[in-house]
Amino acid sequence: MRIVIVGPPGAGKGTQAAVLSDQLGVVHISTGDLFRAHVDGDTELGREVKNYLNSGALVPDEVTNAMVAQRLTDDVCRNGFILDGFPRTVAQAQALEELLRDRDCGIDTVLELDAPEDEVVARLLARGRGDDTEDVIRHRQQLYREETAPLLQFYADRLVTVPAVGSVPDVTARALDALRTRA
Ligand code: AMP
Repeated sequence: MRIVIVGPPGAGKGTQAAVLSDQLGVVHISTGDLFRAHVDGDTELGREVKNYLNSGALVPDEVTNAMVAQRLTDDVCRNGFILDGFPRTVAQAQALEELLRDRDCGIDTVLELDAPEDEVVARLLARGRGDDTEDVIRHRQQLYREETAPLLQFYADRLVTVPAVGSVPDVTARALDALRTRA
């Protein structure tokens, strides 16, 4: 199964993607985690993207797309994956379509985690990651509305939406049900 998980920052994409990838036996690919590992490891890519992450801005598409292309090998495509945090723009989604066409596969389902903005902002403030200051959070929410939400239209034919409020296991159960309707 090849899945994209989308939703505003703080909706629980990372948490759900980790649990779902485990249960479904597919790879979890988080572009945020990949970037943070590069920043922590002080690699050349890490130094290049650090300021974008700190300010909550999007890393330029060519950098992000190249990193994803490297991660999405033929084997990963065959065995399935959950993409978390990518694509974040329609341009990235178009690049992903092209990449997957080259690998002879495609996205089966786009799982949207839906949660009200007040709720997700409160969760992020409580999480307290380095880029979870109020200004940066507000910027990331705005980018989500402007750049990422249009993906819901782009993927309308493959989209399932689940409410992302309640406990982690409740949301997972809803997500698995929703994914089953698409299998
Ligand atoms: P996340 O862990 O998904 O919240 O991502 C953390 C940060 O990594 C974002 O605020 C961006 O700076 C960067 N990032 C992650 N994914 C992408 C992407 N698909 N395109 C551009 N920047 C990204």
